[in-house]
Amino acid sequence: MYSVRLWAARHARLFELTYRAFEPVIVKLHPLWKSVGYQRAEKPMGKLEKLSKGLLFDCQMCGQCILSSTGMSCSMNCPKTMRNGPCGGVMQNGNCEVYPEKRCVWVEAWEGSQKMKGGDTIQVVQLPVDHRLKGSSSWLRVARGASDQKAGHKEASK
Ligand code: SF4
Repeated sequence: MYSVRLWAARHARLFELTYRAFEPVIVKLHPLWKSVGYQRAEKPMGKLEKLSKGLLFDCQMCGQCILSSTGMSCSMNCPKTMRNGPCGGVMQNGNCEVYPEKRCVWVEAWEGSQKMKGGDTIQVVQLPVDHRLKGSSSWLRVARGASDQKAGHKEASK
């Protein structure tokens, strides 16, 4: 898994393009999620997300994905779960002070972001992790968020 995770960050541009194609589909499926019920859709979608992102990114299912802002290197794999850049313990060779045999997640994140078109979002300060969302599907959260936003715009323009 570790080598796949490294590979994914090194092909961050490919995954950025994939996500850009995938996100609108998930959002467009809002009527389906709504008819099934977002709560009901959680289980199968969560499983699917865990399987696919677990395989590629060692996803820890934090429920609030920021992969596209971290060069496709999941910050939840940092042993200190640093969400806004590395701690002060990165070794000179770019490895982690807790697991010296592994690369620092944030070194990988920075390198990944340099390969991406929207890699500048690595500069955005992330909110602290909301642990209540752990285990939930961030895909469904994106779909619901986008449709709520759309509904809000419609309401405002009335
Ligand atoms: S940021 Fe969260 S949802 Fe995204 S890959 Fe990492 S643990 Fe999974």
